[in-house]
Amino acid sequence: AKTQGRSRVCCYQPSMQLEVERRLALESDLRRAIEQNRLSLHYQPQVDAEGGIVGVEALLRWNHETRGGVSPAEFIPLAEESGLIIELGEWVLREACQCLQRLDADRLPRLSINVSPRHFSEPDFVACIERAVSGARIAPERLMLELTEGVLIDHLQDAVNKMQELKRIGVGLAIDDFGVGYSSLSYLRRLPLDELKIDRSFVQDLDDTNDAAIVQTIIAISQHLALDVVAEGVETDQQLTLLIASGCSRFQGYYFHRPMSLSALGEVLLAPHC
Ligand code: C2E
Ligand code: CA
Ligand code: CA
Ligand code: CA
Repeated sequence: AKTQGRSRVCCYQPSMQLEVERRLALESDLRRAIEQNRLSLHYQPQVDAEGGIVGVEALLRWNHETRGGVSPAEFIPLAEESGLIIELGEWVLREACQCLQRLDADRLPRLSINVSPRHFSEPDFVACIERAVSGARIAPERLMLELTEGVLIDHLQDAVNKMQELKRIGVGLAIDDFGVGYSSLSYLRRLPLDELKIDRSFVQDLDDTNDAAIVQTIIAISQHLALDVVAEGVETDQQLTLLIASGCSRFQGYYFHRPMSLSALGEVLLAPHC
């Protein structure tokens, strides 16, 4: 509806109350959705320049009884505020490990999951990851955790310690949406990272010289620190060409694959790539 667009910025009391009610309803629905298993994961492959699949990112989906698909961009922040994100994160972790167990390493080399800062800051987060990985008997390096710069803001040293423990377990660590957060280049060296993911917003505006310069800088830094770099949100041939010219070698985006169901992923992983 029109009222949900930009005009909301200048809204008045009644619509604010509606918004609050809507959020409360959504929150209790989300609680129920977790219990009733109405959540699922979709999977988006990451590819190399030849289109070969090098990894997959798991993305949460909520199929609401009446509202249909609710975007994670809408319900993740809600789940963060209410604390439901912990349960949600544990559910995603279990599902991801099951998926890794079902599809062997030849077909599915690695699976990345998104970790919310709030879940990461739980005292037993590392133990939780360790239990999940050893319970599913999967090689830990096949599980990749995508953290955002948000996990580093409050207690950098705590976060670094936790990341080191996670590396001892053997899981992979990536910084997601790199470049949009508080992105201090100085902390990067201190982090036991495997991968940087260039935020989609930079890829989308690659024809802007500033954004192109940022992307090139991120790629140069990654190479310097021996990190893999994945460009997100690649949609066009032109973007891909520019990224390749800048030295990027891993890509994720609609140009290659949209997020898909587990069964569709199974088929894509079986198909010989050319
Ligand atoms: P993200 O981690 O940056 O995930 C990438 C988002 O970009 C996904 O949106 C994906 O569908 C979308 N995308 C991929 N390729 C393209 C492209 O070529 N063009 C465009 N326009 N979009 C593309 P999605 O699935 O709606 O997820 C939104 C955000 O919700 C994610 O951003 C992530 O921050 C969060 N999220 C999703 N699943 C989870 C989860 O399991 N746990 C947590 N904590 N957050 C999640
Ligand atoms: Ca992500
Ligand atoms: Ca991202
Ligand atoms: Ca993002």
